[in-house]
Amino acid sequence: MPMKKKISILFLVLLAACKSGSEPVETIAQPEDLTAYLRPEGVMMQGFYWDVEPRHAWWNTISTRLDDWKSIGVDRLWLPPASKGMSGGYSMGYDPMDYFDFGEYDQMGTVKTRFGSRAELESLISKAHGQGIQVIADIVLNHNSGGQLEYNPYRNKDTYTLFRPASGRFNRSYEDFHPNHIHDHDAEALFFEEQDLCHENPNVRKWFWESDSSVARYYKNTMKFDGWRFDYVKGFDPGVVKSWMDAVGGFGVLEVWDGNTDYLKSWVDKTGIRAFDFANFYNLEQAIDGNNMKILGERNALWKVYPDKAVTFVNNHDTEKDANQGNRIGSAENRMLAYAYILTHPGYPCLFYSDYETILSKPGLEKLIRIHRSLAAGDLTVLYSDTDFYAAQRGGDSTTPGLVVTLNNASRNMQRTLVTPWKNAVIYDYSGNTDMTLTTDAGGRAAISTPAKSYTVWSLKKFK
Ligand code: ZN
Repeated sequence: MPMKKKISILFLVLLAACKSGSEPVETIAQPEDLTAYLRPEGVMMQGFYWDVEPRHAWWNTISTRLDDWKSIGVDRLWLPPASKGMSGGYSMGYDPMDYFDFGEYDQMGTVKTRFGSRAELESLISKAHGQGIQVIADIVLNHNSGGQLEYNPYRNKDTYTLFRPASGRFNRSYEDFHPNHIHDHDAEALFFEEQDLCHENPNVRKWFWESDSSVARYYKNTMKFDGWRFDYVKGFDPGVVKSWMDAVGGFGVLEVWDGNTDYLKSWVDKTGIRAFDFANFYNLEQAIDGNNMKILGERNALWKVYPDKAVTFVNNHDTEKDANQGNRIGSAENRMLAYAYILTHPGYPCLFYSDYETILSKPGLEKLIRIHRSLAAGDLTVLYSDTDFYAAQRGGDSTTPGLVVTLNNASRNMQRTLVTPWKNAVIYDYSGNTDMTLTTDAGGRAAISTPAKSYTVWSLKKFK
């Protein structure tokens, strides 16, 4: 009977301990199980990469991942633009043609979208809701693709501006695009010159958010999307997003691809919703790939101004592309350092599908997410930084003692004596990278070792 054997061995060990009469030594037990301290806020999953495969089966593919994602703390799932694009069965959705065809009508050479059928999408959304995961739609409002040729008097030539979608909803012609009778253009950027939508045109406003059958209301009320990721908002006025949000509400995040914190802040101020923290992304890229970790403490980021409005990220469907080599965090180990940063710092973190599912260490990310949801609370203080090494502290709150994170970007082990907030205390590295326990001195000091190109995350070993 193995159980009996275990008990008798334990009994002998206890007897031996009593006999020795020595001072009780604290056992090296398992650290506190952080699961007991999880807060409701989790992380967002970007549920796709560029040119997902196999085609026509993506909704079903990620549907099988929902249980796992729920278990690690994913509370929002960002889907690619879900309606039919000009590239039909090859489209990633950023070339919208029919906003109401989710894989239901035979047009652009296919019934299904690249991601599957409407029924499969509805099943995915319903399954996510069953898990308590919100589903975020990717909304492309700037431009359209896939129209038919028509004569356009504003350009005095034929343009692809005649849209007669099979859904029968949101017919468009040259007056709905720039230039038209209202003006020549809206924002400074003309991304899709001939199919750049004019959001001042009553037909566009009606179909995007004003009428009961608008895209916004249909996506919310019929398709049951919970929120929005607004694509390429630099191409139009912030008032467009504001109108959409006033009409349907929900979670909202802007893609303002810009590293300037003040500019990101201005978009948040004008729309009231969150924004991807591109300033933070570039700080991480330059600190880690460019090997100057001091940048992390020195430069501004959206999360430093508006912690509750910043959606932090390390990689996405654009930055993963080879064409964006200068604009991405290169190696897997560098990206892991970047995730250790965003999952310990303020901001709402977004996990990139490929990083979690195929490229980086799943157990490593899962530990970081658990840390994010339990220890990563309170104000942030930078404890130390030099070119290779960065350390910071979260001050904690009434439920957790916070954390100390170290990021070592050097190719050798680094030891730094840091002043932690905990005096004469036993602290433990919850990252899984060292599995070490340390005792701080009366001043809170501890000599913390961090392996080469790695990170540690410390907190009290027992805190409740
Ligand atoms: Zn306009």
